Amino acid sequence: MDEYETIMPGTILRASSLITNVGRVANPECEFSGCKRTTREGKPFCSDHVESSPYVKAVMAEIALRDDEERLLAKGEPPSCDGHLVRETLLTLEQGSFTSAKLSRLMDISHDATETLIRFMAKEGLARMSKTDRGALVISRTEDQR
Ligand SMILES: [Zn+2]
Repeated sequence: MDEYETIMPGTILRASSLITNVGRVANPECEFSGCKRTTREGKPFCSDHVESSPYVKAVMAEIALRDDEERLLAKGEPPSCDGHLVRETLLTLEQGSFTSAKLSRLMDISHDATETLIRFMAKEGLARMSKTDRGALVISRTEDQR
């Protein structure tokens, strides 16, 4: 009985420190310098600092590159053959042919940028360009891509 009473407090202490440690693993502190918020689901950053995560930074950098490509295209400047917009267009063309208006909506880029993109891809042999009866540009896959 004496032994039971002396063991119990220690057992409870160990158990509570175990619970605290488990909680700490499940809710680590945000890695952002100076931020003490706990994060969810073991993520390294809290929701305010998720942009500090290397993965999110990389994705945002790619989106910025795509925006740059669109800006240049809208000014009539040719894009890179292995850039985002050319690669996205090639993937989109696997679903069929598109007018410039439709491609512009699908890619969420301006109509001017889309037309430059279509002309560029046709000139480089990356796609085929034609026109509707009303004169709208149409882009489709080249024969050898079928
Ligand atoms: Zn944070």
